[in-house]
Amino acid sequence: EPRVVIIGAGIVGCAVADELTARGRTRITVLDQGPLFETGGSTSHAPGLVFQTNPNKAMAEFASYTVEKYSALGAFDLVGGLELAAAPDRLAELHRRQGWATSWGIEARVLDPAECARLHPLVDADRVLGGLHVPSDGIARALDAAAAQAAAARERGAVFHGGREVLDIAQQGGRVTGVVTSDGQIPADIVLCCAGIWGPKIARMAGMALPLTPLAHQLAWTNPIPALAGAATEAAHPILRHQGADLYFRERFDRLGIGNYGHEPLPVRPEDLGENAISAFTEEDFAEAWHETRWLFPAVKDAKVEEGINGLFSFTPDGLPLMGPSRELEGFWVAEAVWITHSAGVARAMAEWMTGEEPVTQARECDVRRFEEHQRGPAYVRARDCQNYVEVYDVLHPLQPMEDPRPLRTSPFYPREQALGGVFLEAMGWERPQWYASNAPLLQGREIHEPGEWAARYWSPIAGAEAQVTRERVALYDMTSLKRIEVSGRGARDFLASMTTARLERGPGSVTYCMMLDEHGRVLSDITVARLGEEEFQVGANNVLDADHLARHAPETVVVRDITAGTCCIGVWGPRARELVQPLTEDDFSGEAFRYFRCRRAVVGMVPVTALRVSYVGELGWELSTTADMGLKLWDTLWEAGQEHGIIAGGRAAFNSLRLEKGYRLFGTDMTSEHDPVEAGLAKGPAGGPAPARRLTCLTLDEVVMGKEPVYAGGDPVGYVTSAAWGHTIGKGIAYAWLPSPLTAPGTTVQIGYFDRRIPAVVTEEPLFDPGMERLRG
Ligand code: FAD
Repeated sequence: EPRVVIIGAGIVGCAVADELTARGRTRITVLDQGPLFETGGSTSHAPGLVFQTNPNKAMAEFASYTVEKYSALGAFDLVGGLELAAAPDRLAELHRRQGWATSWGIEARVLDPAECARLHPLVDADRVLGGLHVPSDGIARALDAAAAQAAAARERGAVFHGGREVLDIAQQGGRVTGVVTSDGQIPADIVLCCAGIWGPKIARMAGMALPLTPLAHQLAWTNPIPALAGAATEAAHPILRHQGADLYFRERFDRLGIGNYGHEPLPVRPEDLGENAISAFTEEDFAEAWHETRWLFPAVKDAKVEEGINGLFSFTPDGLPLMGPSRELEGFWVAEAVWITHSAGVARAMAEWMTGEEPVTQARECDVRRFEEHQRGPAYVRARDCQNYVEVYDVLHPLQPMEDPRPLRTSPFYPREQALGGVFLEAMGWERPQWYASNAPLLQGREIHEPGEWAARYWSPIAGAEAQVTRERVALYDMTSLKRIEVSGRGARDFLASMTTARLERGPGSVTYCMMLDEHGRVLSDITVARLGEEEFQVGANNVLDADHLARHAPETVVVRDITAGTCCIGVWGPRARELVQPLTEDDFSGEAFRYFRCRRAVVGMVPVTALRVSYVGELGWELSTTADMGLKLWDTLWEAGQEHGIIAGGRAAFNSLRLEKGYRLFGTDMTSEHDPVEAGLAKGPAGGPAPARRLTCLTLDEVVMGKEPVYAGGDPVGYVTSAAWGHTIGKGIAYAWLPSPLTAPGTTVQIGYFDRRIPAVVTEEPLFDPGMERLRG
């Protein structure tokens, strides 16, 4: 059994110790520089509000487990949560949040003002338009929860030391061997960093840059408020949020606690941190919050702020925690940037991960190795972390790109895309055209379906025209941001076969779609493997984690290189794609010589390319990739020759619509590691095997939804939407949704919860477009 040292006895360190010992691990030492368990870390200062609702499914599940566990430990006040709206856009947002909660299995209801006022003595029905009530939200008594989990861990053999500072991480040959403390060295096979805001300092000892920034956040308490007088318990009423003013509230007997995110971000450099996660209350930053509080709650008008702190906790570039093993030092793990709200759920996932069990929740999105190189630089991290502090309660559209730093990563085609009036959104730092303004004339004579106001943001009818023209003529799609990984060298084939569901028996020139698996045979990602030579492959993957996974497991003779940034890729798709490309090359691109799901090296014009005959949009054509230096030449060559074929450039909005018409799944969105390929509709189950309990199902409807909406049948929530778009060829709205198998028969009617409405949707046979694959195989 490996010896584990956990650094930090805040709520996260204690929770992981508990979950690990519950799984039979006993050789665990937990160290904290402060006294146990009021260590001075963030946990010591948090008011412990737990609002479970989150757009992210894994986060909501982490939170739900926290409620369940801390309730069982007697460290949770189940008072409910009430999020208040004082403006129409905020009321609409509460309906959207109600949808997320429902999608992830959390009971939630939007209440009218009178119902809100009945739930809480401070709420004034004249000030609010409504509220989102989640009965299972409440207050975690964080120090009690930490102590209770530590006690359970101790009982099973874990050892806790307070007043013991970790000064260094001992290592040998790229492996952790222990920690150096203020009281001598402790040997360890695994070191888990749960040091909260001090995490980056510890991580640096392990040679790792942890993308996290400690930010000061204000928490103040009033004097006694008559409307709360006579409270028999510390907290009797729901915890409150007023996101429109960046505020949250809880009571402590007859006093009101006010949390404020409304001030300018106040980052603290890790080297400036003391031993306490607190700094002096900056009154001037609280003025607006106090004004808003007294407006919202007239009963608080005459109260005073009695005490306040600027407490420190962690923010990350994408708002998610940092979990898992480090890339830099074997045996060094982190569980960082975790709220009280998610602490038990994160700890359970960590323990499962560290002991190699089946994870109950989907922790991959929180994997600390998910960031690209540029996302780990200090300037980027600080800018994004501060922005996430500002946006913590904002209404964020699912397509809303980061505003700054932009542009950051651009493909070689960027100048041409700009010249065509590209309207850019952003993904992993890449500028990506959503549609092109110069395509506006395509609208002439076309009727493009107009979505509702919310779905029409970051959208233009031009995207619909681009989608239609792709099916009529030929279009260029910039696919540069998609992960391309080169895998080559002696044993490359056997290596890839061992990492995926593919057998790779087909020789050079083949393309195989398959699943990448982890050590336990669970699906990590879906990939396409193009075999360019005997031992030479180009892998199309989803993210940096995929590249990392391959690199980590490659035998010595196999080279794995993430070539995404050094190369570029164009999708040339549409019925005229062959007429366009063939005259540009001496290689044979005919239907007989270059069949569907084949690949080869070729020269197009003067540009050496790797050509894959695949298409995410379901049309004839190729993905052509080349080195970045030749990118412009490739674009110009295709563009010029394409003029006589009516070529256009198409954006991501058109792309997404086309891919859903063809039923192509997006890993991470439509399915994740918690799903298997059979239920996701990517593989056939064994003949006579059990039918899956749920299925990713194609729905059609008369409107456009966005994804993550709940699906109801007979009034009850039964599943949730993953991806959605308008199908501009089929003339219908499309939504893919996870549904229980009995509801997946074509013709079944369900309802999609969209803001405050229920939209009827019908289960439909898929794919919706070209089921005979005539277009692709043409
Ligand atoms: P910590 O509790 O900070 O624990 C880290 C531990 O590591 C510390 O005890 C520290 O002493 C120890 N340590 C650091 N360096 C070393 C070293 N070199 N050697 C040994 N030990 C070391 N979250 C919510 O969910 N709901 C809320 O309502 C909420 N409100 C908040 C309000 C405020 C004012 C603050 C400050 C935070 C709030 N949070 C809230 C966030 C929450 O408190 C934190 O996210 C959470 O407590 C982090 O827990 P942790 O165990 O990771 O960190």
